[in-house]
Amino acid sequence: MERKIQLLQRMLDESRYTVVLCGLEMTEEGGYYSFKNQSRAYEIEEQYGASPEELYSSRYFNTRPEKFYEFYKQEILEAMPAMTASGKVLAAMDRAGKLGCVISENIFDLSLRSGCRNVFGIRGSVFRNYCLWCKQEYPMEYIKGAKGIPRCEKCGGMIRPRVFLYGEQVDSQLVTRAMMEVEQAEVLLVLGTYLNSEVFYPYIRSFQGKYLVMVHEFEQYDDYKADLVIVDEPKNVLAKLQF
Ligand SMILES: [Zn+2]
Repeated sequence: MERKIQLLQRMLDESRYTVVLCGLEMTEEGGYYSFKNQSRAYEIEEQYGASPEELYSSRYFNTRPEKFYEFYKQEILEAMPAMTASGKVLAAMDRAGKLGCVISENIFDLSLRSGCRNVFGIRGSVFRNYCLWCKQEYPMEYIKGAKGIPRCEKCGGMIRPRVFLYGEQVDSQLVTRAMMEVEQAEVLLVLGTYLNSEVFYPYIRSFQGKYLVMVHEFEQYDDYKADLVIVDEPKNVLAKLQF
């Protein structure tokens, strides 16, 4: 283990450009469990009478906005993860000039709020919201504080968060730019997710640099495809790096 950490440190120190992918385990570190977590999915289905995939979908948002917002405020905004120790390490890497960019699937801007400067939130952000009619922007607090469906102060239109719901296309320009970051990376550090991740697989596949490094909690059958694998929670590994 210690030898692997030393190896990772050396790879990162010598890397001209490092891109970090942050998966769901990074959000769990802050106390937020995604809908892929079975017990959470079950609890939500019990409470709302629909699965998280149905609730967090464009169809549900369009047809039952009131119920959507009940779920969204309670299960997402009120359950917001805390800032994490891992975020601090990534920000320190950034300050040391050792972090090219972060590509993250959490919608809570965790890396950005930790102080990383170049962050791609490929599933959107709960902090950005806009009126569907006049496009006026609203902060997250406005959504949180609204009774029922949040409505625009100016025109009364319905406000929606800039997140990608199930059934919606992701921002292809954003994805293309993030993909280009991966293509120029010398080291791709994959934290808290797996090679078979639906979200990250295309990014990992387009990596052509020197070292693919994976840090995750559970050993996987295809781990051997990476140049370095450390099976542990990312926070334990990041805490041992010197930046
Ligand atoms: Zn408006």
